[in-house]
Amino acid sequence: MIAALEDLRQIFDALPYPVFAKNTKHQWIYGNKAFEQLIGTADYLGKDDSAFFPMDQVKVFRTEDRRVFGGEESLNEEEIGKGLFALTRKMPLTLPDGSFGLVAIILATLQPDNSEADPAWISETLRREPESQVQHLESTWSKRTEELVQRLNDVESMHMSTLQIARTDTTTGLMNRLGFDAEMEKAIQASQSTGKSFGVAFIDVDLFKQINDRFGHAAGDRVLKVVGKRLSELPDVFAVARWGGDEFALLTELPNIGMTRLIQGFEEARQYAFMPVKDDNSRITVSGSAGMAIYPDDATDPEELMRYADIALMMAKQSGRGRVLVFDHKLNETEKRRTQIMRDLPDAMAKGEIVPYYQPILCTTKRTVRGVEALARWTHKEFGPIDPAELFDLARMCALASDLDKSVRTMAFEQVKPWLDNNLVSYLSLNISPQDIMCEDFANSFLERLAAFGISPEHICVEILESAIVGDLEAAQATLETLSAAGVKIALDDYGTGFSNLRALLDLPLDNLKLDQSLVRSLGTNNKVGNLLVSIMELAKALDVRVIAEGIETRLQSTFVTSIGCDLMQGYLFSAPLPAAQMDVWLCDYREKVA
Ligand code: C2E
Ligand code: MG
Ligand code: MG
Repeated sequence: MIAALEDLRQIFDALPYPVFAKNTKHQWIYGNKAFEQLIGTADYLGKDDSAFFPMDQVKVFRTEDRRVFGGEESLNEEEIGKGLFALTRKMPLTLPDGSFGLVAIILATLQPDNSEADPAWISETLRREPESQVQHLESTWSKRTEELVQRLNDVESMHMSTLQIARTDTTTGLMNRLGFDAEMEKAIQASQSTGKSFGVAFIDVDLFKQINDRFGHAAGDRVLKVVGKRLSELPDVFAVARWGGDEFALLTELPNIGMTRLIQGFEEARQYAFMPVKDDNSRITVSGSAGMAIYPDDATDPEELMRYADIALMMAKQSGRGRVLVFDHKLNETEKRRTQIMRDLPDAMAKGEIVPYYQPILCTTKRTVRGVEALARWTHKEFGPIDPAELFDLARMCALASDLDKSVRTMAFEQVKPWLDNNLVSYLSLNISPQDIMCEDFANSFLERLAAFGISPEHICVEILESAIVGDLEAAQATLETLSAAGVKIALDDYGTGFSNLRALLDLPLDNLKLDQSLVRSLGTNNKVGNLLVSIMELAKALDVRVIAEGIETRLQSTFVTSIGCDLMQGYLFSAPLPAAQMDVWLCDYREKVA
């Protein structure tokens, strides 16, 4: 197959022979000077044979052209005018827009003396008079053809070495995306004829930025080189490319060993590629994740296949990095679902479909209701109730978490105001997204909104996650100080599972610690948990903060947390989170019951 028209144009322009190129609509899209002279006009581009030739001749050209579009080369004599014949070589060609076409080189034109001759004159003469002048012409043609083929070959090999360069990644010496695409194409063709499947994998260096930051970019490059080399050394792997940044792609044969052993082998390969890298005197610890999809089982389209390998990689990273994952169509369903949820989110917010539910928070000793926590709820029209933790994860990914919080908050202010006014509850507890805590003007705009609803800051508690403040303690501190100074209570949510950062406990203006529900759940099954809770109570006393136990589902749990001095509790034992109207009924009923 000949290279692209663009590469050959310069050479064609300089050729003494008429040369033209056509697209599959048989329209001329290129012609050199000699062709223009032959055809006698410069106005042929975009036109087809029917502009210059009678229809029966046009049909002959088109039949010929179609054979060439189908991938064949041809050498033919064609009548291009009354009694004028051309020996034309046609070859398939890639056009500048990537589509298919043909290039034709008219090697010789022949005007026999007998201009009334039959169009088959040349072939007849060739057949009958081997010694004739025609034979001389034929040998001249074939010599010229040879020369031309030689020149075309030169061009093609030049093109190949340019391609080689264009297909190589300079940092690692591996091929790049362009090269990889070509290898993938070859692998697919091979698989179609042998029936053997193969794997496409994406491999990604975990936290590569940190390697660059810590050891410098040159060391980072060396790490990529070593990892790339190790990947190339793996048995069965027949193509490795640097996909870009810290990502590699590879093609691997798949020995027929079953899925479990395949995954094992894949994991071993990952471990080999990510052994520590020696660099001068330092030893750089590296880790990486990988995802694989299988041709033709997962997909036959290369792009789809790569997308699946990428999804597998993404899921491997999400499930904790340093892992391999082989694509499974369930993964794709998960991904589709997540994408759909993110797509529907703005509309759902605009339509007020995401609403707060309320869960009561009770005093452990008096059993009276003190507050309610607002918890976002969204029932998606296709997927049903969306888990709030997932909802906020996705909202964070599309930078909508702040807006979502704000809209839930606004509804909550409105709905909780009457309960506050009627002393049904004394405070509203709100979960705040991590990025808001870091945001400079969050505290003031929060307080302004509150004032607009006529709610005093003393009636509000904001719940923040410990993980949200470890990133930038100072920024969090500023926001929380402002809120606290205005009278807002601050609670550290899900305490006891995460970082348990003492510094944060000491530096932040905390009022409450919310014990994570997993601790409460482990009571009675893990002997140490009781002790741990008791010591957290001691810590809380020393810091002068109140403790709230979450996830109370049984009487035993409620009795225990009360006995160790927890101040407040919340959980299904009292009530699940309920929509505003139902919580309203629950609160009134409960007050009567306690009274
Ligand atoms: P969280 O703030 O720790 O909320 C407590 C979670 O425990 C809620 O889950 C609640 O429904 C659940 N829960 C309450 N009592 C029990 C119980 O007795 N047993 C069990 N097993 N679970 C109980 P939910 O509503 O699924 O929310 C999950 C997390 O999503 C919340 O954890 C919070 O971090 C986040 N979230 C929910 N709504 C919002 C919101 O409006 N804004 C923000 N930023 N985050 C929210
Ligand atoms: Mg909470
Ligand atoms: Mg919690």
